[in-house]
Amino acid sequence: MKFDTKLIHGGMSEDPTTGAVSMPIYRASTFHQKVLGGQPDWEYSRTGNPTRAAVEQLIADIEQGTAGFAFASGSAAIHTVFSLFKAGDHFVVGNDVYGGTFRLINKVLKKFGLTFTTVDMTDLKQVEAAIQDDTVAIYFETPTNPLLKISDIAAVSAIAKQHGLKTIVDNTFATPYNQNPLALGADIVVHSATKYLGGHSDLVAGFAVTNDDQLAEEIAFLQNSIGAVLGPDDSWLLQRGMKTLGARMRVHHENAAAIVNLLKHDDRVAKVYYPGDPDFDGYEIAKKQMTHFGAMISFELRDGLDPKKFVEGLKIVSLAESLGGVESLIEIPSVMTHGSIPREIRLASGIKDELIRLSVGLEDETDLIEDVQQGLNQL
Ligand SMILES: *Cc1c(COP(=O)(O)O)cnc(C)c1O
Repeated sequence: MKFDTKLIHGGMSEDPTTGAVSMPIYRASTFHQKVLGGQPDWEYSRTGNPTRAAVEQLIADIEQGTAGFAFASGSAAIHTVFSLFKAGDHFVVGNDVYGGTFRLINKVLKKFGLTFTTVDMTDLKQVEAAIQDDTVAIYFETPTNPLLKISDIAAVSAIAKQHGLKTIVDNTFATPYNQNPLALGADIVVHSATKYLGGHSDLVAGFAVTNDDQLAEEIAFLQNSIGAVLGPDDSWLLQRGMKTLGARMRVHHENAAAIVNLLKHDDRVAKVYYPGDPDFDGYEIAKKQMTHFGAMISFELRDGLDPKKFVEGLKIVSLAESLGGVESLIEIPSVMTHGSIPREIRLASGIKDELIRLSVGLEDETDLIEDVQQGLNQL
């Protein structure tokens, strides 16, 4: 089955008991057990719920994994995955991971004795040099948020395998439409399904996916033990959004290409960060491991032009955190999504105070172009 067909017919596309073509929302917390001590398919909805199972099978199918797990948020998925490990375990982590992941690592996981070394994941020598005797896994995003840096998933996974480490990739920005880390050698993929997978800015959800039976068993155990599961209503809404992922991504990509073209040729724009731009540092690796380049664009205005005035002057593109929805969203990471990262650490990883991040939505291309242009004209 091709990707778009999997989105519609993969997973558990209809209700096995009634044939309903839309999987019903099973709101039950518990299920009648016909015999005492049997092995019922369903017993309690934290452990397993049919509506959640449908969306979990769907993400497993489209990420080329064997098991998927749905959580109450991307952060909950990431936390559960880190719970596979124990005090004293060391991780090599990308130096510009999502701000919330940075906070989870530094303010929560470190309290429990996990240790971390952050590296520039685009530099394989740095990755290798950071590995210690107690290292257990490498964790990173590609493209990263907000600089859209590209790391070579196959190369990092190969280093990890040589040292007996797990590779964990946050695939939120690329989406399974554009990139499948498991097929490139990663062991676990995590997602903030709040973004492109849900796709409509109307829910918060997360996924973990693996193709390793042992890891699948351990994640299932942790999902049930920790209990940060996705409820049946949101599971339904999420699978509803995912059915159109392919159709949406194609328009996201077209609009993004048009906006990149505009920004690259406007002399009020100093720098554009987009993996699909042949002048961009990670372009060659992106071309190798992604089918398309996504619809996240970051850019900097020329010195002296006020990014605050620009983002506030837009009429169609909304000033808001988050990304991957049908509506175009713009933000300034230093004061919004990445505000929780200390300034010197932000600057060291290349995130300037003036950097602007744009999530290109599905509005008409000409309206978006006009809006960005009128925003620039106000400067
Ligand atoms: C948003 C995001 C997360 C966190 O997901 P939530 O659903 O907000 O908890 C993790 N990683 C990336 C790359 C994100 O963009």
